[in-house]
Amino acid sequence: MAGDSHVAGQPSSKRVADYALAKFKSFGLDARLEEFEALMPWPIETTVEVVGPEKYTLRVKEPVLPEDPDSGDQTPLYNAYSADGDVTAEVVYVNYGMPADYERLKELGVDVKGKIVIARYGAGWRGIKPKVAYEHGAMGCLIYSDPRDDGYYQGDVYPVGPYRPEFGAQRGSVMDMPIHAGDPLTKGWGSEAGGKKARIEDAETILKIPVLPISYGDALPILRQLKGKVVPNEWKGALPITYHVGPGPARVGMNLKFEWKNRPLFNVVARIPGATRPDEWVIFGNHHDAWAMGADDPISGASALMETARGLGELLKTGWRPSRTIVMALWDGEEWGLLGSTEWAEKHNAELKQKAAIYINTDGTGKGWLNTGGSHSLQQLMGEVAKEVMDPRTGKPVFDEARRRAVLSEAEGDARKAAEADPALRLSPLGSGSDFTPFLQHLTVSVLNVSFGGESPGGVYHSAYDTVKWYQTFSDGDYSYGRTLSQLTGTLIMRLADAPVLPFQFTDTADTLMRYVVELETLAAAKKESQVDMRLVRSAVESLRAAAQDFEKAYASVGRANTQALLAKKQLQQLNLLLLTSEQRLGNRDGLPRRDWFKHQIYAPGFYTGYGVKTMPQIREGLEENRFTEAQGGVRTVSAAINALAAQVNDAARALQQATR
Ligand SMILES: [Zn+2]
Repeated sequence: MAGDSHVAGQPSSKRVADYALAKFKSFGLDARLEEFEALMPWPIETTVEVVGPEKYTLRVKEPVLPEDPDSGDQTPLYNAYSADGDVTAEVVYVNYGMPADYERLKELGVDVKGKIVIARYGAGWRGIKPKVAYEHGAMGCLIYSDPRDDGYYQGDVYPVGPYRPEFGAQRGSVMDMPIHAGDPLTKGWGSEAGGKKARIEDAETILKIPVLPISYGDALPILRQLKGKVVPNEWKGALPITYHVGPGPARVGMNLKFEWKNRPLFNVVARIPGATRPDEWVIFGNHHDAWAMGADDPISGASALMETARGLGELLKTGWRPSRTIVMALWDGEEWGLLGSTEWAEKHNAELKQKAAIYINTDGTGKGWLNTGGSHSLQQLMGEVAKEVMDPRTGKPVFDEARRRAVLSEAEGDARKAAEADPALRLSPLGSGSDFTPFLQHLTVSVLNVSFGGESPGGVYHSAYDTVKWYQTFSDGDYSYGRTLSQLTGTLIMRLADAPVLPFQFTDTADTLMRYVVELETLAAAKKESQVDMRLVRSAVESLRAAAQDFEKAYASVGRANTQALLAKKQLQQLNLLLLTSEQRLGNRDGLPRRDWFKHQIYAPGFYTGYGVKTMPQIREGLEENRFTEAQGGVRTVSAAINALAAQVNDAARALQQATR
């Protein structure tokens, strides 16, 4: 699957989908392609020149390495959903190009209006950089990988070491995903050939200025020719120059032209029908499309998913049938903006809200330790499963190292002490950056996101050097953690598919929400003028905790002995439906302010972070961005959502008590 470049929308992506489809069938699974389409611009012109003082034509190409012939079959270097444009202007260096960098530029007396900005990758999602540049009046944007963050400063470059070589660059989407994911022309409904589409002019998520990713080899001739003030210390990269802000005298001309066309997407979907509860679904997905070969991103995760599918196929041959329906999917077009998963989720919206108990997501995976994020009602289940799957290196449960690392990731002091005292493996809240987003934040279905990593170096992310050779040399070379990931997802799926009562639990949710309340109380106290009063949210979380404790008491009283009796009762179906739809209570129909596609009131990608999560986003971003009326409105919507969940957990506790009577 990683033997050819296979970018979405191109025939090579269909080839990978067909290959995976044949594999699923050979495992004995009922599988098919589900086709969608999306507006996917393909570059036909990406020319960048330094027109003066000293001329230089950028390569905008990653050279083939003789040591790794796979690095040769490349897609062009570009950022998907850049605007077309032919602009020439003086250049300004804007550090990471995040909002705070523009505050600093203002202090330095530099304006980017009418200029082309050059920003380095890092500190936030790439799509934020051209968006903020445009908001400040820039005409174009170049994003480069500085060797300090991503190159020789980190270690030896590929092929000697794993890090980004001189002319390696990072492709990627710059779609305005904090507004909505998926096809820019079909916000909220599945995009199919011949279906309803918005006009391109009305699309909210296409960038307004041209933007292109470049290598540090190509950035150097630009940065070397900047004058003006020397940059602040923390803005300095690792190129052999003194970094200046500009503007100019370096002038750059960039001419970008794309062919704007709807192109097909091929999701591969396999189903194992549930024997006794076919209308309760456990869904597991990973994308199959890549920017080039994608051995790490996403094939390392996609092949682990296929191994899980193969294992379930073997079980089916022994006569095993899951109680619930299992759906396994390989999504297309994730790299462009979660296209395949979003269109699928939007098309099957109503059915998924009735039937989807959980969506489990994986993506690229490496070696190291377990990373998990997701809905906190699944924290206990995740912890239990992590105690039963062994680390291939230590032979001990993957839980141990994951918890140790999670504690270490907390800031020293009270936060770390609190984490140390907590025996649980805490799930991280999810922002965005992979296919869980349409499920969690649009449908408000509960999700888990899992991977192994921490010891795999970065360095070839979204480049032509993300090859099988790179992966085998520098990441999970013997695929032992890939197998572990497959064991972990397989165990999760089988528990979820067969547990008489869905293994959800809500005291972790209440504890986690209370931590967010405390954070926001502190933030509100620092901004007294906001008049944000968190008491309503605090009391909603307390109601949830009381309901959660009742539910757990009832759950604990179900012994092995009465599980069989329980299975026969029809209240069980009602109980499972209450649990299956519990996460939906944390969403609301209106969604978040200025981005109504995002329905979840607890987790969202930040408006100005892109991938980074903002919890209780309406309150938190309202406070951070001084939109106090919005923050006050957030207190009402967040407390209403939590109260609705508390009421549903109460109903579930009662249903469980009745069923076990
Ligand atoms: Zn990926």
